[in-house]
Amino acid sequence: HISKLPNIETTIFTVMSQLAAQENAINLSQGFPNFPSDPKLIELVQQALRENYNQYAPMPGALILREAIAEKMELLYQRDYNPATEITVTAGATQAIFTIISAFVRPTDEVIIFTPAYDCYAPAVEVHGGKVIPIQLKGKEFSVDWNEVRSKITTKTKLLIINTPHNPSGTVLSKADMLELSSILENTNIILLSDEVYEHIIFDGAQHQSAALYPKLAERAFITASFGKTFHNTGWKMGYCVAPKALMHEFKKVHQFNVFSVNHPMQIGIGKYLKNPKNYLGLPAFFQRKRDYFLNEIKDSRFTWKPSQGTYFQVLSYENITDEFDTEFAKRLTREYKIASIPLSVFNTNKEDHKLLRFCFAKTEETLAQAAKILNRI
Ligand code: PMP
Ligand code: GLN
Repeated sequence: HISKLPNIETTIFTVMSQLAAQENAINLSQGFPNFPSDPKLIELVQQALRENYNQYAPMPGALILREAIAEKMELLYQRDYNPATEITVTAGATQAIFTIISAFVRPTDEVIIFTPAYDCYAPAVEVHGGKVIPIQLKGKEFSVDWNEVRSKITTKTKLLIINTPHNPSGTVLSKADMLELSSILENTNIILLSDEVYEHIIFDGAQHQSAALYPKLAERAFITASFGKTFHNTGWKMGYCVAPKALMHEFKKVHQFNVFSVNHPMQIGIGKYLKNPKNYLGLPAFFQRKRDYFLNEIKDSRFTWKPSQGTYFQVLSYENITDEFDTEFAKRLTREYKIASIPLSVFNTNKEDHKLLRFCFAKTEETLAQAAKILNRI
């Protein structure tokens, strides 16, 4: 067979965004803001273009940006990452994740992921011949059964992937979760991939539990981040990862050959912008206003929910409305009601359907109000 990924279909984000466009529906499916980035950031990028930062950036990234990332990690998580050896700027978090997997996963290696899982992890593992070991998150809380994690670790486990705040469920890992994970990974050679692209989108006063806060995790962890999520410009495809020197050394061996370096003027613009913590410290409050607004607008609908704890996604249960399969219901809502969402079953290994849809609330109040009007009619 010529295909290395015979069972992989076009990603749900492409499918639903295309359907939304075709049906002229409000698109709360694929996660992206419909409001602009800060004009100050746009101006800094334009300035970099004019100042002729138009040739290759250094392979691990522009120094000003790596320094700004190190300052941010120190300020938020009190951990030192050396800009020279422990930070690499990437083409979004997606490229960081793929490159980490590419650098470490050999055929037959096992990679533990929690399902429902963001859709780029498993195909990257499989294309390198690795084996995905899925662990289902439990119940309406999407909580981790740490005893099950213990039982699934073998001598072949190479990598374990966590994602907090979690896409698609909107749940977050607690301090107790991170301490459990620390004790499980201690005295193993397992590498941790902590996907923290929503680190700044967390609600109700909760503190983001970065792997960087836990010495026993940080010593084995790649942490991935996305400027698209943080600064409202997903189309720029800018992100980064941090890791201890020895791990980052292996990462760079692959990075230098699958991309070499990423967009230079944007690195300069983002680097200058990231230097000012005011440009990210207000994000939790900014997104919480959107979550609260959206949930208040749909309070009389037939959907039910637990408020999102983080990410810019809200999961809604439609168990009181219909027993249609979630992929079918999501498509019907797009066609008949003109509102697009993401069905959660696509993120489960066996495509189990729990009657849940994910809605993106990184939208203007006007769009959220229009969306709520529709949801209240369903
Ligand atoms: N991880 C998760 C959990 C995400 O939700 C996303 C973006 N949707 C990514 C990684 C990829 O981020 P980027 O757009 O920066 O590649
Ligand atoms: N991360 C975004 C989401 O979860 C989509 C990214 C993509 O389209 N690949 O909706």
